Amino acid sequence: MTQGIIAVAYIVAAILFILSLAGLSKQETAKRGNLYGIAGMSIALTVTIASANPDALAYMLVAMLIGAIIGIILAGKVEMTGMPELIACLHSFVGLAAVLVGYNSFLKILWGENHVSGTMLNVELSEIYLGVFIGAVTFTGSIIAFGKLRGILSSKALMLPGKNVINLGILVAMAVLMGLFLHEDGSMLYLAIVTALALIFGLHLVASIGGADMPVVISMLNSYSGWATAASGFMLSNDLLIITGALVGSSGAILSYIMCKAMNRSFISVIAGGFGNEVKSSVVVEGEYREILPEEVAERLKQSESVIIAPGYGMAVAQAQYPVADISRKLRSMGINVRFAIHPVAGRLPGHMNVLLADAKVPYDIVLEMDEINEDFPETDTVLVIGANDTVNPMSQEDPHCAIAGMPVLEVWKARSVIVFKRSMNTGYAGVQNPLFFKENTHMCFGDAKATVDKILKAL
Ligand code: NDP
Repeated sequence: MTQGIIAVAYIVAAILFILSLAGLSKQETAKRGNLYGIAGMSIALTVTIASANPDALAYMLVAMLIGAIIGIILAGKVEMTGMPELIACLHSFVGLAAVLVGYNSFLKILWGENHVSGTMLNVELSEIYLGVFIGAVTFTGSIIAFGKLRGILSSKALMLPGKNVINLGILVAMAVLMGLFLHEDGSMLYLAIVTALALIFGLHLVASIGGADMPVVISMLNSYSGWATAASGFMLSNDLLIITGALVGSSGAILSYIMCKAMNRSFISVIAGGFGNEVKSSVVVEGEYREILPEEVAERLKQSESVIIAPGYGMAVAQAQYPVADISRKLRSMGINVRFAIHPVAGRLPGHMNVLLADAKVPYDIVLEMDEINEDFPETDTVLVIGANDTVNPMSQEDPHCAIAGMPVLEVWKARSVIVFKRSMNTGYAGVQNPLFFKENTHMCFGDAKATVDKILKAL
């Protein structure tokens, strides 16, 4: 395949990736965006395979076959609730790939297979050094994120004494080692030391971030994986990899920024591993809660003129989006004004609730973002909180020392009546007690959200 055809194919693939990102930014165009992405990736893969060194082709195809089989098995098995962990896991692979590409490129220089000298040598060594560093941080950071999302590791922030000094120390050491690495025209010892430091940095950075800030970590690791890909692109002299990496890196960074704004967090403090973020809450939430049965909820809904449904992670766990969508259709057919209120970090993925509701065929125009609906709660008869907890927790406004302090939440308690669907009085992901459950206008409807909503649907 000629260089000209490869260049044109790569440009077409890059344009398709840009269109894909644009499409994915809105629910209405998300499907089309995915199709553009699939088309771009198909072109990129075909051209890369067709233009590969014939000696390497067999290895490439075997590696792709093994990867494809593992991918298909995993994708077939994973539940919607397991998606966040899967994504964290995939980010770790991108990081590991960048580290391996970095070592491969370095060994080529060391063993004289890549004859570069002077300024070009320094440029290539810098690419290798930075690629390995970002890749290793992404690798271990994503593994910790995987553990936190899966619940294997505590969602609480690790508070080592002098944690900011540790982070800054590693960054300074990395800069000094880079100078030495370049000065010696490349050294395996320095590369190995910086790899070890970067692995520790990734572990510490993500472990230091508390549960409530995890959404930012996900998008931040997404961004890091993009920069790691771009670094691999430089090392392999592959323009498409550079463009794709830059697209993922910058869109991930923009998403992290948007998430920080939505959660009223400082972008710098979160990406620096929860810099100066200490949680010292001593507030104890106590009181009596009132229970309600699904049949009584149905009666209350029939008497309402306006209903808002606030879904959260529990709806995803219970797979309750289908009966919830059925209830919304039933109530709307009875002339009741039903809308959905979506908190920006509800669930465990950016846009998690939107995806579930779109899958259950809830019309987009009744699914509103927090900013669009928060002022309507005082005028609302009934709010159904389905498996949401942190995102409807008034403690964020009441206790400046709790893990979710300052995070804007859905102010559901201002409605005339609130019904919370969950299985117990347990806290949400951030581990903060929720006074909403003890308010006079709140009733708890205990049980698995899907089973409960099914009962309400039947009663309706
Ligand atoms: P939370 O995680 O705060 O709470 C979910 C609630 O659902 C739990 O209290 C649980 O209570 C209940 N639940 C679980 N399973 C079921 C079930 N089968 N039936 C009924 N209820 C169930 O959810 P939110 O969506 O309100 O908040 C999201 C949290 O996750 C935030 O802290 C956010 O920062 C964090 N996060 C978000 C990410 C994102 O990108 N959106 C990424 C990573 C973290 P019980 O056990 O009593 O049933």
